[in-house]
Amino acid sequence: MKYGRVYNFSAGPAIMPEPVLEEIRDEMMNYRGSGMCVMEMSHRSKVYQQIIDEAEADLRTLMNIPDNYKVLFIQGGATLQFSAIPMNLCKNGVFDYIVTGSWSKKAAAEAKKYGKVNVVASSEDKNFSYIPDVSDLPIDDDADYVYICENETIYGTTYQQLPNTKGKILVSDQSSMFLSKPCNVSDYGLIYGGVQKNVGPAGLAIVIIREDLIREDIDPKTPIYLRYDTYSKNGSMYNTPNCWAIYVCGKVFKYLLKNGGLEAQAKINEAKAKVMYDFLDSSKLFYGTVEKKDRSLMNVPFITGDKDKDAAVVAATKAAGFENLKGHKSVGGLRASIYNAMPIEGVQALVDFLKKYEAENA
Ligand SMILES: *Cc1c(COP(=O)(O)O)cnc(C)c1O
Repeated sequence: MKYGRVYNFSAGPAIMPEPVLEEIRDEMMNYRGSGMCVMEMSHRSKVYQQIIDEAEADLRTLMNIPDNYKVLFIQGGATLQFSAIPMNLCKNGVFDYIVTGSWSKKAAAEAKKYGKVNVVASSEDKNFSYIPDVSDLPIDDDADYVYICENETIYGTTYQQLPNTKGKILVSDQSSMFLSKPCNVSDYGLIYGGVQKNVGPAGLAIVIIREDLIREDIDPKTPIYLRYDTYSKNGSMYNTPNCWAIYVCGKVFKYLLKNGGLEAQAKINEAKAKVMYDFLDSSKLFYGTVEKKDRSLMNVPFITGDKDKDAAVVAATKAAGFENLKGHKSVGGLRASIYNAMPIEGVQALVDFLKKYEAENA
């Protein structure tokens, strides 16, 4: 591979598109005649304003974001949103959570500090290996929102159908599926994601929120830096933003637009996932841990059923140049994260390797 790079199957921070890295390299010493690197320039400069404006405009085009939604660039990763969401959306102080894994469980635990949390559905009974039926949930009449983690990075599940929220607004953590396929933004009150899974450098979250949900009449003790209105009134620049991450994300947005947008990306992602799942379904050594109907396009956990064998396979993949395939400890085995930037050749090469491994170790 070029530059001695490896096929990196990390769950995050994760693989980036090579053309984007090359462009950044080319602009490193002198960004477009500014005489500076982007990380050296004032966030109040004209040249930086253009970078953030274009990033937002390109994201709006990519996702077809309606005008009544705001795009906020917020530091603190996805995790800070676990707190920001209940703090900003609290009216009645009742929050309904669907718990399908570690991330939604953490988010629910955090929300408990700010109100009453109802877990209206959970898949914990089977180690989060499926998405529960969400067509008719006991949604609380007073619920301020219904919360989901739409793609579970650790357990490898994804929603095929959004929950019936019975008129309540839907809040979705899309961290590990952000920009992996088209998304109908108006189905949601708020979409957010940490960008280090499928877009850019860690530390930045993108929040897409319906305008009327940004309120001033929230608890006045809410830290100013956690208030959504602080971001919306100041163009995400109340203070110095994560300039570098926004710059890199902007590059990725342009790259996706140039390559056919999210429809084209979804097709590629489906093809890649099919290579993985077809292999797992035909393998006698490996099997997927997720119910077929709920399988993620992005994170593919699989096991042999034997811890020592799993460890041997992980070591063998590493020796062969496939990195970061060790599964999360709560599932064990292996996990291949095959985000947007992973080329289908990488997935095919991994499957070829696993097939060969299986034949030699039968
Ligand atoms: C990684 C991840 C998070 C946490 O992201 P940070 O930016 O590290 O806070 C939250 N939710 C999901 C679904 C994730 O994959």
